[in-house]
Amino acid sequence: MLIELEQHALKNHGSLARNSKETGRKMNSGRDVDTEREKRVRNCDRRTFLKSTSLALGTSFGFSKIFAEDNMKSGFIDCHSHVWTDDIESYPLQGTQTVADLQPRTFTPEELLAIAEPVGVDRVVLIQHTIYHDKDNSYLIDTIERFPGRFSGVACVEPRAENLSDSLVSLHASGFRGLRIRPGDGGVKLWSDSDGMNAMWRQGPEVGLAMCPLINPEYLPEVDRMCQSFPETTVVIDHFARIGIDGTIRQSDLDNLVRLARFPNVFVKVSAYYALGEKQPPHRELIPMIRQLYDAFSPQRLMWGSDCPYQLTPPNNYNDSLALIKDRIDFLSDDDKDWILRKSAESVFFSN
Ligand SMILES: [Zn+2]
Repeated sequence: MLIELEQHALKNHGSLARNSKETGRKMNSGRDVDTEREKRVRNCDRRTFLKSTSLALGTSFGFSKIFAEDNMKSGFIDCHSHVWTDDIESYPLQGTQTVADLQPRTFTPEELLAIAEPVGVDRVVLIQHTIYHDKDNSYLIDTIERFPGRFSGVACVEPRAENLSDSLVSLHASGFRGLRIRPGDGGVKLWSDSDGMNAMWRQGPEVGLAMCPLINPEYLPEVDRMCQSFPETTVVIDHFARIGIDGTIRQSDLDNLVRLARFPNVFVKVSAYYALGEKQPPHRELIPMIRQLYDAFSPQRLMWGSDCPYQLTPPNNYNDSLALIKDRIDFLSDDDKDWILRKSAESVFFSN
């Protein structure tokens, strides 16, 4: 199955960024899915969706509660999820879409927290869902305001907009800490050829917004070029740069991702397991890739994310996503887990 990851990534590429008071680093953020994945989600009707959610809750509560109490007073942070509503009068869908296009029909912040909180996740970074709302970030703006302290946000903007600079300042004031960027944004193949994209990367550190690329591995060299031009800009790469999205984890792709570790403001989201490798629990085939990223970036620059609601499509579920980091990797210490499950995302998306 493919994911939200691919729709834009197969044709393009992208990454993320953020800011950190502690380290002075700045970075970015983003999101992802593809057509095939959308089809899968659409094939998962609401009854199945809710059933899988209930199963995930039931199997994960005990361990997470213990871990949270023993090791993490503030709880975990999920660095990547989407939300939407069927209130399309207040939040119109892009194009000719109707409520029938929403699969599931709703995935509200209440539904998200009902899954996340019982397993110790109490804060989430919400990623703008362009499929339904394009660059209208209003539902995320309202959600962040409605749940003070619970959500951060990654927005989507038009790089060619005349009022781009003012928009970035406004988004930061509304609680956003990153911008989702994809190949093709700015109207050209390479970001380095887009005046708007260059402006976003330049202003990111000033405004406090990370660049969050949603890309396939083929686009990593372009991310590298942008990082060379804007080394102060925080970048948060979505979903391992989708390495393994075709089922094969190629070392050449991983080498290109690892090379980005030489830029101290680049982070990687360890996320969207449903779309990578074997694309089903227990996700252990991803561990060797995580090991290489751990060695290159350190746990201080890795962050866990689910990519809900897509991670909830059976046989995948929320618990198995969290459990890969929390339970299934022997080389991670409790302190490492604290960074990957909370502190890295906190420094980028819940600071300044
Ligand atoms: Zn996503």
